[in-house]
Amino acid sequence: MNPGARMLILGKQGAGKGTQAVRLSRHYVVPHISTGDTFRAAVRSGSEFGQLAKQYLDAGDLVPDDVVIGVVQERLTRADTSHRGFILDGFPRTVRQAEALVEILAPRGLDLAVDLEIDTSHVLRRLASRRVCSDCGANYAVPDNPPRVRGICDVCGGEVLQRDDDTEAAIRHRLEIYERQTAPLIQWYEQKELLVPIHALGTADEVTERIVAEVDRRQRDRPTT
Ligand code: AMP
Repeated sequence: MNPGARMLILGKQGAGKGTQAVRLSRHYVVPHISTGDTFRAAVRSGSEFGQLAKQYLDAGDLVPDDVVIGVVQERLTRADTSHRGFILDGFPRTVRQAEALVEILAPRGLDLAVDLEIDTSHVLRRLASRRVCSDCGANYAVPDNPPRVRGICDVCGGEVLQRDDDTEAAIRHRLEIYERQTAPLIQWYEQKELLVPIHALGTADEVTERIVAEVDRRQRDRPTT
């Protein structure tokens, strides 16, 4: 059995973070922690927290740092992440969140930050065709990679829908926020020698193979002190 992984996935909206996080969580047998899925579930539940989150999600704005950091801190202190690790998807999105993550993960820290590299022209096309399971977050694309039964998730049987925030205006707004607030994290993780850049075009299988090959190589070469 492989030794697990403590890692996160960076990348623009539509780079394939959700798709790859689901696959990597199966491969490394670790929980997939998606802040976006957590907020969407809260919105669906209609709770007070969900109503607060909905305003940000619908506008394509970032949920305030303190709120997101609290959610991730609570999740990462659960026992299922302590032995084999986790795949973080959609967190961190700001330098402040990345700094908070350092404290949350101390003393063991993070193994790697995978960055899925893709041009904006490609992601605009992908986002228009993206469909997502409203229960487990599995990603599909129409017409190229639909669920086997229309509208029903292959993985969990949940409802497969277009996300409310995948409208053209909200997508452009989210990409602007990405450039301003999240792209600086690439350099931030590079300076910490944790960054693993991965070319994100190709089939989902090809991208997963690239990530696993590179992650395993880095884990093998890691000093064992
Ligand atoms: P995602 O599914 O990762 O694209 O996230 C969907 C939405 O959830 C984002 O547009 C934000 O409104 C919110 N969100 C998810 N993760 C974060 C985060 N780390 N910081 C702030 N807002 C977030």
